[in-house]
Amino acid sequence: MTRMPVLFIGHGSPENALGKNEFNIIWGKIAREIPKPELILCISAHWMTRGATAVSSAKTLKTIHDFYGFPKELYRLNYDVQGSPKQAAEIAGLIKSDQAELDNQWGIDHGAWVVLMNMYPEKTIPVLQLSLNLDLPLHKCFAIGEELSGLREQGVLILGSGNLVHNLMMFNPEEEPFPWAVEFDGFVKNKLNEKDYRALIDYRKQKTAAISHPTDDHYRPFIYAIGAAKGETPRFFTEKIVFGSVGMRGAIFS
Ligand code: ZN
Repeated sequence: MTRMPVLFIGHGSPENALGKNEFNIIWGKIAREIPKPELILCISAHWMTRGATAVSSAKTLKTIHDFYGFPKELYRLNYDVQGSPKQAAEIAGLIKSDQAELDNQWGIDHGAWVVLMNMYPEKTIPVLQLSLNLDLPLHKCFAIGEELSGLREQGVLILGSGNLVHNLMMFNPEEEPFPWAVEFDGFVKNKLNEKDYRALIDYRKQKTAAISHPTDDHYRPFIYAIGAAKGETPRFFTEKIVFGSVGMRGAIFS
């Protein structure tokens, strides 16, 4: 079996599930370029837990419409997809850097389905989600990525879904990218190219970090992804900053 790449995708607005735009067209193109996965393991910004890392273990992951104030048609979109209780248990068993638990309640949140709807609209590939344990320091999130990287040999696509700049309080549809957003996004790009994982884990030392990530939920999925892709050179397929403050940078590692 061919080794699967690792992806990090900046998912941006839930509206990226509707119609076609410069981002979701590229996500679909990437899906057609890479080998077809046996299973997708998505680490989404929108599943946060405390005290332990959870792996979704329901037989079917039901679509969660976890956003407010968007067009009605978004709430009608459905990405109910097959899970894999057996592989969820195996994956939980691989995690050494945190307490890992199975969760048969969680479905599929929009951080996962907005992307997957564009990549695999046919919904034939089973999906699991891994939660963000907000109590876990980032170096341990990186270590979990490393612990899961062997899954790539088994046809598992590891997909981190967040945003590398994410400040919704500064969100403005009319706005050009803010200088601090450009600066922070450039820091991530450079450190990733240099494979300076320490700098990326310790990103809070950057002057522009606090404004780029008032909370770190959209940055955390990236840390798991780079742990799973340690040592590999990224290829960036999207780089734009939208609404002034949302970085859409996406990368593939193989
Ligand atoms: Zn989001």
